[in-house]
Amino acid sequence: MGLLGAFDAPEMAVPCGSRGMLSLGKGRIAMLTKLFFSTVAGVRVDRVWWQGQTLHLDAATTRRAARCPLCGRRSKRVHSFYARTIADLPCTGARLTIHVRTRRFVCRVRWCERKIFTERVPALVAPWGRRTARQQEGLQRTGFDLGGAPGARVAARLGMCASPDTLLRVIRALPDPEEGCLRIIGIDDWGATRSRIA
Ligand SMILES: [Zn+2]
Repeated sequence: MGLLGAFDAPEMAVPCGSRGMLSLGKGRIAMLTKLFFSTVAGVRVDRVWWQGQTLHLDAATTRRAARCPLCGRRSKRVHSFYARTIADLPCTGARLTIHVRTRRFVCRVRWCERKIFTERVPALVAPWGRRTARQQEGLQRTGFDLGGAPGARVAARLGMCASPDTLLRVIRALPDPEEGCLRIIGIDDWGATRSRIA
């Protein structure tokens, strides 16, 4: 079985372990981590499985310490774990869902008001996000190019579930462009400018 043999068809998922999934050896973990998270440091793929037409990844964070978002000090003391489920860009036309085990750390700085904080992996997902950063970017581009309702239809066909309102929301979440970046003026803008001049 090749690298992708572990998940190249739903019927090839091998029952293993308590959740009926395929456990991967170290070599495959490294290769799949590189395949799915080549641009995301500090995350590892642990398991891969199909459910219906959706590909699922179990992932875990790997950095030994995390930085408190309030005081900025690093901590290695883990308080607890919790699971986050986030939607990713489609993979070979199938929806891709990531279940990432995230840690809460104890901030040991006495004067810091944040006693417990959650580690952050901004390259993967925003602190309270339900989509990966790359899916968010994909939806923003789709929304910009096509608008709300048409963009949502195209996104659904591509394997990204988002309502028209969601597409508009992710566009509005973008920061305003910096001053001086305007390079193209539309006809209406030009007309408005002339009427003001006249
Ligand atoms: Zn702190």
